[in-house]
Amino acid sequence: MNPAEGPSWHCLTIAVPPALAEVVSAWCFALGSCGLQVEEGGERWRLQAYFAAEHELTRICQELDEELEGIGLPGARLGADHIGFEDWEQEWRRFFQPVWATPRIIIHPSWTPVTTGPDQVAVVIDPKMAFGTGGHESTQLCLEFLDQLLSPGDRCLDLGTGSGILGIAAGLLGAGLLTLVDTDPLALDNTRENLERNQVEAQVLQGSIDAVGGNEYDLVLANIQSSVLVPILAPVAQLLRAGGRVIFSGLLAREEEVFAAAVVAAGLQVLAVRRRTDWIALAAQMG
Ligand code: SAH
Repeated sequence: MNPAEGPSWHCLTIAVPPALAEVVSAWCFALGSCGLQVEEGGERWRLQAYFAAEHELTRICQELDEELEGIGLPGARLGADHIGFEDWEQEWRRFFQPVWATPRIIIHPSWTPVTTGPDQVAVVIDPKMAFGTGGHESTQLCLEFLDQLLSPGDRCLDLGTGSGILGIAAGLLGAGLLTLVDTDPLALDNTRENLERNQVEAQVLQGSIDAVGGNEYDLVLANIQSSVLVPILAPVAQLLRAGGRVIFSGLLAREEEVFAAAVVAAGLQVLAVRRRTDWIALAAQMG
């Protein structure tokens, strides 16, 4: 990256039948996409997946092409473009609008200020290379559960923090100890910036669940995806105090049954499931 120009991105364009749009989006996120735009209409929707330029484009294209071929969509990837910082900012400014995620939690970019009531918190997120602007269903479902389940002073862990959105919302709602974790160092750069913007203090750790040690949590937030979450359910459960809660998101509706069974097998009790379009979030409790 040339610092004079600012960061830049790859943009992959994929033409997908509407029924497969969610699954292809989930793959893009799994491959490290920090944001997606979907243009609906016609037999094929146009999906644009953005990746920070630091990601290796050839590998992403290769893996995505293999997945697309596997579901009978060879050639669905139309192209890969390079997006400079100025184009990107313009794009974001055009389509990143404030999100009233719950009656209490509002997410907005710094360039669109919002007015809040006495019981509301406004989370300022300036999107860069990390996922988490509040526009995605998986984030919104998490915020709804967070609003419902967080008590002031709760010790919170946000696993897969991306832009920091969930952890910052928890902090503004009165969480006590706050730990924000992500495997992606680029996401953590954005997490730190957003923490500062919101004047929220947190411990920021790079890595997965093994990076977190020593603390016990009242509430864990994990908006990642089931293939990542299932293998780490037991260590996540171990970090919860008795009666502590965990919110899992990034799950597709069709994964609900299998995921809920894995949660129970890890010693947790399922409390509730929230659903929006093809996405679900599941809240569970340590016995
Ligand atoms: N919490 C944000 C971002 C979710 S995107 C929101 O709700 O909008 C998922 C994030 O999880 C990405 O930033 C990705 O880098 C991170 N991630 C993926 N696997 C992980 C793992 N095993 N441990 C921690 N973070 C992980």
